[in-house]
Amino acid sequence: MSNIFETLESEVRSYCRSWPVVFTHAKGATQTSEDGTEYLDFFSGAGALNYGHNNPALTKPLLDYLSSGAVVHSMDMMTPAKREFLVTFQELILKPRHLDYKVMFPGPTGTNTVEAALKLARKVTGRQHILSFTNAFHGMTLGSLSVTGNSLKRKGAGIPLTNSSKIPYDDYFDGTTADFMWLERVLEDSGSGVDKPAAVIVETVQGEGGLRAARIEWLRSLAALLKRHDILLIVDDVQAGCGRTGTFFSFEEAGIEPDIVCVSKSISGYGLPMALTLFRPELDVWEPGEHNGTFRGHNPAFVTATAALRTYWADDKFQQQLAGTIETLHRGLEEIAGTVEGAGLRGRGLLVGIIFPDLETASKVAAEAFANGLLVETSGPDDEVVKLMPPLTVTDEELGRGLAILAAAVRTVAGTPALASA
Ligand SMILES: *Cc1c(COP(=O)(O)O)cnc(C)c1O
Repeated sequence: MSNIFETLESEVRSYCRSWPVVFTHAKGATQTSEDGTEYLDFFSGAGALNYGHNNPALTKPLLDYLSSGAVVHSMDMMTPAKREFLVTFQELILKPRHLDYKVMFPGPTGTNTVEAALKLARKVTGRQHILSFTNAFHGMTLGSLSVTGNSLKRKGAGIPLTNSSKIPYDDYFDGTTADFMWLERVLEDSGSGVDKPAAVIVETVQGEGGLRAARIEWLRSLAALLKRHDILLIVDDVQAGCGRTGTFFSFEEAGIEPDIVCVSKSISGYGLPMALTLFRPELDVWEPGEHNGTFRGHNPAFVTATAALRTYWADDKFQQQLAGTIETLHRGLEEIAGTVEGAGLRGRGLLVGIIFPDLETASKVAAEAFANGLLVETSGPDDEVVKLMPPLTVTDEELGRGLAILAAAVRTVAGTPALASA
């Protein structure tokens, strides 16, 4: 029998090449393939499955909704499901964090919310230029690509990516150059030739670009600098948001208030496509219908999103439990990194990994982990980091099992012969 995935599906496919099995079932942190093999999923749909696969707290309301005859597709028309989501998001997320944001539904994917953010920043300021950071990843459509770093992905555009420039992310010069020295200078120098940007877009942890995590002080300095110069701050929280770093938004610890926030991946909580663009009310200068789209508010996603917020974010119990999970994972990873000379930890919260001193080890470790039933991917321009994103609901037993498989994979790939056979 020919393999239809290889004969019919485009060469562009990627994850299925790293994990060449057909997945049939999934529950929590486990995925099962057609031949019955179980895999521990520490990839979590790149952050779209923060509450695990098929979480029963979300499945039940979703099935009830679908079987009730309620509206599924409604463009951006009003439905009870949309009302419930907006009320819940305001009560459980925005209000307790004292965040005053309008909520826009920009289309269901991460790149949709980034495009909406860039468009709005340009419209509000009347400026064209956007600054983004080295190794940033913001999505695959032209606007998002123009603020993305990865050269392979940028080349895919096929046209020049204009109206944006890259500036160094935290620690790009390994601490030898003062933060924002260049940016501060060119913004103040009318002869610098650098157009004043509409906005700066930043990830607090670079999910795809190698898991560099910006320091809290760096984020605060960035926010203050932009405020002084009347430049908008956009935080792309598509991957690091929805609890991934230990708080609902990844910028909470820094105490900053971005002008615009991009949210997607785990906002529906169930792996259903959904995205939000949040912005200060004064920035809401859209004309009705000026940014349109067919899938801007899909009711089944509203239903699971509301259920996820009510289940996990109604009080701080989940967040406290999450802190323990983060500590356990970091301790385990530090131990593993300690067995390889020159290896170290990258990232923050449950968006962490091990960077290896060479460019081959991380990919080999990920492949070896897969052979032993663990799904982990790599991150970084040269895939130099092995990246762990267990669901936030992962149990201690699963965490221990995953770390054991990872440790064994590292021993096999990077360990000394004596250790490898031990
Ligand atoms: C995944 C991701 C995107 C793009 O989301 P898509 O749904 O793939 O379009 C944008 N920004 C960040 C930080 C992401 O991780």
